[in-house]
Amino acid sequence: MQNTSSDNRNRIPRTLMYYYGLALLIILFFNWVIMPMISSHQVQTTTYFDFMNSVEAGEVKQVYFSDTEISYTKEIDGQTRYFKTGIVDNPQLPQILQEKGINYAAEIPEKPNLLLSLFLTYGIPIIIFAFIGRQINKNITKKIGASGLNIHGQKVAKIYKPDEDKKTFDDVAGQEEAKESLQEIIDYLNNPKKYEEIGAQCPKGVLLVGPPGTGKTLMAKAVAGEADVPFFSISGSEFVEMFVGRGAAKVRELFDQANKQAPCIVFIDEIDTIGKKRNSQFSTNDEREQTLNQLLTEMDGFEGNKGVIILSATNRPEVLDPALLRPGRFDRLVRVELPDLKGREAILNVHLKKIKVKEDIDVNFIARMTAGASGAQLANIVNEAALRAVRMGENHVTTSDLAEAVETIIAGAEKKNAILSEEEKRIVAYHEIGHALVAAKQSGSAPVQKITIVPRTSGALGFTMQVEEDEKNLYSKKDAYQKLEVLCGGRAAEEIVFDIVTTGASNDIERATELARNMVTRYGMSENFGMMALQTGGNTYLGDSGQSTCSPETARLVDEEIKEIIAEAYKGATDILSGNREKMDELADYLLEKETITGEEFMEILEGKVANH
Ligand code: ADP
Ligand code: MG
Ligand code: ZN
Repeated sequence: MQNTSSDNRNRIPRTLMYYYGLALLIILFFNWVIMPMISSHQVQTTTYFDFMNSVEAGEVKQVYFSDTEISYTKEIDGQTRYFKTGIVDNPQLPQILQEKGINYAAEIPEKPNLLLSLFLTYGIPIIIFAFIGRQINKNITKKIGASGLNIHGQKVAKIYKPDEDKKTFDDVAGQEEAKESLQEIIDYLNNPKKYEEIGAQCPKGVLLVGPPGTGKTLMAKAVAGEADVPFFSISGSEFVEMFVGRGAAKVRELFDQANKQAPCIVFIDEIDTIGKKRNSQFSTNDEREQTLNQLLTEMDGFEGNKGVIILSATNRPEVLDPALLRPGRFDRLVRVELPDLKGREAILNVHLKKIKVKEDIDVNFIARMTAGASGAQLANIVNEAALRAVRMGENHVTTSDLAEAVETIIAGAEKKNAILSEEEKRIVAYHEIGHALVAAKQSGSAPVQKITIVPRTSGALGFTMQVEEDEKNLYSKKDAYQKLEVLCGGRAAEEIVFDIVTTGASNDIERATELARNMVTRYGMSENFGMMALQTGGNTYLGDSGQSTCSPETARLVDEEIKEIIAEAYKGATDILSGNREKMDELADYLLEKETITGEEFMEILEGKVANH
């Protein structure tokens, strides 16, 4: 089963820039489009010639001179219209006007729309700004909670009010060890005397580490629910994002507040955003460095028994500055790992409680199908299953809804209208049977659960699913090799039957190569290198593979050995398939006809229980 990590929920709020940009656009719009429209309608520019003609014709009522232009009014259809024209040096003009009895003065008449135009140019933008300001305030208040810390008009951290959206340890399934560690802290906060009497000091900082989606944030909320103390929560990314240029000050103020409220808990989520190693080669970010330094200072500053406990969470512990992790700061590490079989069952049960289910859900089966899935993925699977039930017009969720949801999440939804030619379908069928048959003929590899040749939205043209009977924590070299054989089985079948190679094996090839590389560089399963580590670092939680630590010369040998290992597995797969050619044909025909078959059907045909189907 692939383990797709998915915790990239976007939490960037609409920024101030967005609002300012909008306001600017509106102002420009008023000044360039609306205003000219209105004023050109109101004050018409004419030529001096027209002006003189109007004067001669006696149409002009009033004339005003300024340094740069002549403004005048005419009465048309009983309405006063405003005109202007340029200045021509004409000393006779006043005299002419005098003769015609036209009123003139040396100033510009007050435009009747002056107020209106003032309003349009300045008033509306001001109103818009005021409105936007209120929106921003509202947003921030919403985001941080009304009772947060108020610092220069902005709130630093929200205080969880445990009664709204209250989480307790019951909401966090599995993770017993983590709960136990945290229980001690909750106990300390509720009952500090007990600890003081013995002279025990409570840890100042607790760092929750683990892969994305394993419930670290959830766990922190549950601590808030369990402990009866104020709980300040802020995410590291909020620091970087909201308080540009003021990170260090915010840290200081956050701790000031926390100290006043002690005993209390401060939770810094995603601490890696501010707690990255300093002076690393790649990033020199002064602001973050200052924020981090301030955090370190603050953590040293308060007494351990004052009752302020700092929780933080990250899925990138390897990038954290070592100074954060030394005793007296985040000296307690609580691991929140991917759930094991029992944990997955428990998590599924927690989330199944929230939806309507048929009584006899096989939770154990779904849990076995989802080896390597995180809590968030399991929650997602349950929700996906509920959505599917709705689509199907059912009013409760069944085991098959859940199984289908697992597949959707692993392989993408079924692509019902994908068109494959008969020949292509045959190739895909043989490819999948190739995987399944190799797996079935090996001793001790996971039984085949399902084979399908219905294309998926992920681009897969089919897949073969194996489900382990039990949780497996240790893989032997033989297991790894057998896995390689299974991965090679698809391509091997294509080659045996059709004598062609297709692009359909690309994902298999990728996975086989990665596995073989890990066998050599990480697991010490290599003939040539034995227990020599050839790869270090990397994030164990985010699936980053780290850097090679060997010389280019050795790297070449590593590549060669990887090639050999895969070639051997390919040969193994070919041998198995060639030796079972008849069964392979029979199974492929059956799969072509049915498109999706279960592991049982597969085994029945393989063991010859069905003579004629
Ligand atoms: P993290 O912070 O470790 O990335 P979250 O705490 O945000 O993960 O978890 C995301 C969601 O996954 C939670 O809201 C919850 O629905 C689900 N989840 C994760 N772990 C568990 C668990 N142990 N028990 C129940 N639900 C869980
Ligand atoms: Mg989180
Ligand atoms: Zn394949």
